[in-house]
Amino acid sequence: MVKPYSRPAADEPAWWCIISSDQIFLTDDNDLPFGCLQDLPFPDLTEYKVIFIGELRERACYLVMADYLDDSFVGGSFNSLRTLLDAHDLEKFAIAGRARQFSDFVNTHRFCGRCGSRMQAVDWELAMHCQQCQHRCYPRVSPCIIVAITKGDKLLLAQGKRHKQGMYSILAGFVEAGESLEQALQREVHEEAGIEVKNITYHLSQPWPFPHSLMMGYTAEWAGGELHIDPHELVTGDWFEFDNLPPIPPAGTIARTLIEKAIGKTSQ
Ligand SMILES: [Zn+2]
Repeated sequence: MVKPYSRPAADEPAWWCIISSDQIFLTDDNDLPFGCLQDLPFPDLTEYKVIFIGELRERACYLVMADYLDDSFVGGSFNSLRTLLDAHDLEKFAIAGRARQFSDFVNTHRFCGRCGSRMQAVDWELAMHCQQCQHRCYPRVSPCIIVAITKGDKLLLAQGKRHKQGMYSILAGFVEAGESLEQALQREVHEEAGIEVKNITYHLSQPWPFPHSLMMGYTAEWAGGELHIDPHELVTGDWFEFDNLPPIPPAGTIARTLIEKAIGKTSQ
């Protein structure tokens, strides 16, 4: 196992996830920088916190924690992580998402939540440790359920307050402490749409680094209740016929995958 704080060699070709605040540095063609340190137009990385975060296509990936609005990296610019999602490169999106989550974790765990002392990075695993009271923290992952619900040949879609203009998606929500995933799903669906569901089926999960969710994806079928969209969480929502859907999330998102599964499953 490679230690998180292993220093990259100057002649080691690697992927570089340079994170500043909640943004990532992408080259002018919207890609992650790749190459040997000695060949890249980077500042002296000994000035930065550099963390090994895994491999992409058999090459090492490093997180470089840059300062807010750091302008020493040239040949590209800081962008939203969603730019990589829009480029439909899910492997790169996943590793960049991991970089962003690690960066958030280190930045928000400088001091111990139990005793207030300064925390230190553990050198053999990705964790922050308090020498004073031995409290140890790991990067936070927040489980969420996301579900595509059908009623006959119609799919439930809603517009969230944070969705892009005109974009509809399926229902999602955080799992609360003490809940199972199934309980969270039934509660969220009831709170947000006022309905009950049956035939809850798990399909897949996707890390969603905005900022640290793990989306657990389901399909389900309407079982009862009148549709009543919760105005606190959603702008609008309705049942849409499969062949007449409004704008939905792009390929590569778990929402899109579940929508396609739900439509395929119930139209057979
Ligand atoms: Zn402590």
